[in-house]
Amino acid sequence: MFESLSDRLESVFKKFREKGKLDSDDIKKGLREVRLALLEADVNYKVVKDFISRVENRALSSEVIESLTPFQQIIKIVYEELVKTLGGEAKGLDLGGAKPAKILLAGLQGSGKTTTAAKLAKFLKKKGHHPLLVSADIYRPAAIEQLKILAQKVEVPFYEPKSNEKPLEIVKNAIEMAKENGRDIVIIDTAGRLHIDEDLMQELIELKKTFNPSEVLLVADAMMGQDSVNVAKIFNERVGLTGIILTKIEGDARGGAALSIKEVTGCPIKFLGTGEKLDAFEVFYPERLAGRILG
Ligand code: GDP
Repeated sequence: MFESLSDRLESVFKKFREKGKLDSDDIKKGLREVRLALLEADVNYKVVKDFISRVENRALSSEVIESLTPFQQIIKIVYEELVKTLGGEAKGLDLGGAKPAKILLAGLQGSGKTTTAAKLAKFLKKKGHHPLLVSADIYRPAAIEQLKILAQKVEVPFYEPKSNEKPLEIVKNAIEMAKENGRDIVIIDTAGRLHIDEDLMQELIELKKTFNPSEVLLVADAMMGQDSVNVAKIFNERVGLTGIILTKIEGDARGGAALSIKEVTGCPIKFLGTGEKLDAFEVFYPERLAGRILG
């Protein structure tokens, strides 16, 4: 995960470390290399620009340059600013509002949405919750069947839509079923499409308006880099997101989506998908990821 970015940064910092004392030219030169490393990692150019200017402002202070260990100070600054770029404090799930809490999952086809619905159910069950899974993807019966099988695997109840039920009815009935069975969270998988289209947006807007979910999470594929960032931006502008789940992060050598998506969209990353298995799923901690990037 993020190997190429980590390697590039490590070689920049190695030069700093070997030099010992640093003047402002050394720092500027080093930060130019950091900038290139981030751009090569497919990080959004504006995010890179802001990040570098924050680091530079702090690193060029006399406190840093005149200190006995400028290298360590700079690493600390880079780490802290990376944490900010990644979203600062970890944001937990909001499960407030009317019971059961509703979590709406949105995303393009292939992003890992259905798998993520089951992973999230498993995760919440482990935390002592009683989730129920439902799929409102009437356009792809195979998607409903896929979630049904995954629900069985993670041993979480599943609302089986009746034929001819429309997405709004499906979700309404799933919420009823959850109430009757004492389930405290309904995880709603929605239709995915290959590309953003108007019908898909309208359906999500309708579902959100009708059921007022406490979380509207976009499932986005980290391997798609800036394409995923753009998708997140559009979903947020049209539907309004409360957060992002970034999948397939374990195969992402670059890290461009993870490092851009919060600043570009304003929406925090809440979870990471780290593999195909149903427990390959973790809460997103900006500090932990910044630490991993810096090795
Ligand atoms: P959907 O079309 O968005 O519902 O996507 P699916 O849930 O069907 O997932 C598409 C593919 O991505 C499947 O092969 C999943 O196993 C895979 N997948 C989902 N999440 C991850 C992940 O975090 N890492 C990896 N490597 N594969 C994932």
